[in-house]
Amino acid sequence: AFQPAARLSLIEVSEILQITFEASARKRAGRPVIVLGAGEPDFDTPDPVKEAAARAMREGRTKYTVLDGSPELKAAVREKFRRDNGLDYALDEITCGSGAKQVLYNAFMATLDPGDEVVIPAPFWTSYADIVAICGGVPVVVPCLEADGFRLTPAALDRAITPRTRWLLLNSPSNPTGSAYGAEDLEALAGVLDRHPQVWLMSDDMYEHILYDGRRFATPAAVAPQLKARTLTVNGVSKAYAMTGWRIGYGGGPRALIKAMAVVQSQSTSCPSSISQAAAVEALTGDQRVVAERCRAFQDRRDLVVGALNAMPSVSCRNPEGAFYTFARCTDLVGRTAADGTPLADDRAFCRYLLESVDVAVVPGSCFGLPGYFRISYATSEAELREACGRLAKACAALS
Ligand code: PLP
Repeated sequence: AFQPAARLSLIEVSEILQITFEASARKRAGRPVIVLGAGEPDFDTPDPVKEAAARAMREGRTKYTVLDGSPELKAAVREKFRRDNGLDYALDEITCGSGAKQVLYNAFMATLDPGDEVVIPAPFWTSYADIVAICGGVPVVVPCLEADGFRLTPAALDRAITPRTRWLLLNSPSNPTGSAYGAEDLEALAGVLDRHPQVWLMSDDMYEHILYDGRRFATPAAVAPQLKARTLTVNGVSKAYAMTGWRIGYGGGPRALIKAMAVVQSQSTSCPSSISQAAAVEALTGDQRVVAERCRAFQDRRDLVVGALNAMPSVSCRNPEGAFYTFARCTDLVGRTAADGTPLADDRAFCRYLLESVDVAVVPGSCFGLPGYFRISYATSEAELREACGRLAKACAALS
């Protein structure tokens, strides 16, 4: 019989994908399902980006590129870091992979020895812990309180660090909470890292451009330049430019780390798609107005969803600073009973109840390391969001 490798026994199949698949299957079977589970913008990739890809194909740029990014893409990333973040990375301090996910994977694969620890504040994007585990590391999950805006506090960071700690992984704005760290928050965390020189910092800036209410984005390597020599700044085009299917992510960091990551990539994908790289150059260097326009649309949707959720008597959520998720509390509903007598024992049961009773697919907080909550992705039309919130209210009111 088939026997998977031991390292896979530590990993669970992505529950978020399972929920999305099940919701899609129900939809295909004719049910009026609204999927608020997926982590991707509903917008289309901008036309100039598609055109750049078509041009690359016509011009025969269809061969392997330099292993961790074409010179054109690395130059575009360099300019992006300078323009948006005030960060100066040399070309050999930049890496490009098939999505930010591959960049994270390369970094952990290149640095973790068995038993090395990675501090991951919870709630967190599920893939972090699984990638760390696949690479032989140990995810050290640090719960963060809603009262702290789901942000890691310096005291909690200090307590989590051991002699085995290799990385701290920060994600701002956050998937799943939408919480963002301001410059002062990052300075305070940097103060702790200053006392622990063995700990490196990975900053996942994937939702940088989806930040609301006029906030200014802050990234650790810029806020605390003394940490730049041990920071990997990760980003990508998936969310900002609605390019999830193109699979381009990138990172900036110390030369030696970038070189080690290239070794990993050389024996997995060789290089990201040449056509996608050409498209990403256009995304990063072309007219950026589309990014701000879409951010405003996401902000309107946030207002709609947060307003509707907080109007429900037994659901509550904080107002997220960015990304396109809300992380709502459902502890008051857990333990209640559905009309057909089914008890809702936990957040997973609650989310299943929503799917089965009102055809709304959301993801339980347990998937992100914090039970008692559920995540709504509001990267969908306002009409669908209104309908979904109405159904949610109805489903919650029907519980006894
Ligand atoms: N980082 C975070 C926080 C994400 O939510 C995601 C995607 O959901 C990624 C990284 C991965 O993005 P990519 O499509 O570039 O692999």
